[in-house]
Amino acid sequence: TSYGFRNVSETEKQGMVNEVFHKVAKRYDIMNDVMSAGLHRVWKDAMIGALHPRKDPTYKVLDVAGGTGDIAFRIVEASRRLAHATVLDINGSMLSVGAERAEKKGLSDNLTFVEANAEDLPFEDKSFDAYTIAFGIRNVPHIDVALKEAYRVLKRGGRLLVLEFSEVEMPLLDRFYDSWSFNAIPRFGKMITGDAEPYQYLVESIRKFPNQRDFAAMITEAGFSRVTYTNYSGGIAALHSGWKI
Ligand code: SAM
Repeated sequence: TSYGFRNVSETEKQGMVNEVFHKVAKRYDIMNDVMSAGLHRVWKDAMIGALHPRKDPTYKVLDVAGGTGDIAFRIVEASRRLAHATVLDINGSMLSVGAERAEKKGLSDNLTFVEANAEDLPFEDKSFDAYTIAFGIRNVPHIDVALKEAYRVLKRGGRLLVLEFSEVEMPLLDRFYDSWSFNAIPRFGKMITGDAEPYQYLVESIRKFPNQRDFAAMITEAGFSRVTYTNYSGGIAALHSGWKI
C-alpha cells in the first residue's frame, strides 16, 4: 500500500486510520508500551486522577476512540467498580480485544462496547456525566464535529477530557522527541507489525495536530466553558479539560 499522506481526503484519512488499527489491534497494547517507553500508563493514570470519577452507580462515562479499553477500565476501577463506562470505537478489531480484556479483568458488567464514529454518536442528548478521549481525537477527520457531538451527549455540568500528543515545550526534549518519533516509532512499527508506513502516518498526524492553545480554542468554540490544559512530560502529551455548563 502507498500512503501518500500529504494531501489525502477526509474519507481516505479515516480509511488509513482504520487500516492501521485493524492491523495492530492484537499487538496494540504492547506497541503502546514500547513506543511511549511505558509513559502512556502514567499519562492515563493522571487523566483519571483529573477526572476523579464519582463512586456512584448512576455515574456514566463515554470513552470515545476507546480502543482496547485502557481508559474505561481505569475509570471503572477508580469508581470502585460502581460507575458505568461505554467504550466507543470505529474499529471492531480494537473493541474485540477490549471486550476480551474486560472479561479477564471481571469488569464486563460495568462496560458497554459500541462500534461507531466519534463524528456521529448513537446516543441521545445529555446522556453522560463525562466524555473522555485518549490519543483518539487526532485520528478523527473532523475534530470540530467530534467536539460538537461531545458537547451534545454530555449532561449539564458534564466534563470533557481529551488526552492527546501535543507540542513539546522543552528545548532539548523536543529534538530528542523528533528523532524518536520520526525514526524509532516507524522502525518499531515495522519490527512488530511488518509495516512501517502506517506508523509514519500516525507520527505525521501528531505533527499536524493543533498545539495546546489552538486546541483549547477549538474546545471553547464547540461550546465548552472553563477550558484549561495540563502538559505531561514537557508537552509530549497534554490533557485538555472543559465543562458543559
Ligand atoms: N484510547 C485508547 C488508548 O488510549 O489506548 C486507544 C487509542 S488509539 C491510538 C486510537 C483509536 O481511535 C483507535 O482505536 C481507532 O480505531 C479510533 N478511532 C479512529 N477514528 C475514529 C473515529 N472517527 N471514531 C471513533 N474512533 C476512532
